[in-house]
Amino acid sequence: MSTKKFPCPECKKELAWSTDNPYRPFCSERCKLLDLGAWANESYQIPAAISAEEDDYSSSMIPMENWKSPTIH
Ligand SMILES: [Zn+2]
Repeated sequence: MSTKKFPCPECKKELAWSTDNPYRPFCSERCKLLDLGAWANESYQIPAAISAEEDDYSSSMIPMENWKSPTIH
């Protein structure tokens, strides 16, 4: 059997799927943190999460088209 390969979502490096890798689906802790960091930044810009009292200033700051949905499973 050949080892299953998959690309790291962050750096696209091909990795062997291993249960020994604690950073799956990332190749390394660095990529995992990078991706989580990117997600955290994005999450502050989710229009649906903006409450009514924040709406007056944030609605003008957060263009809908710039919102990228985070990948959560
Ligand atoms: Zn990576």
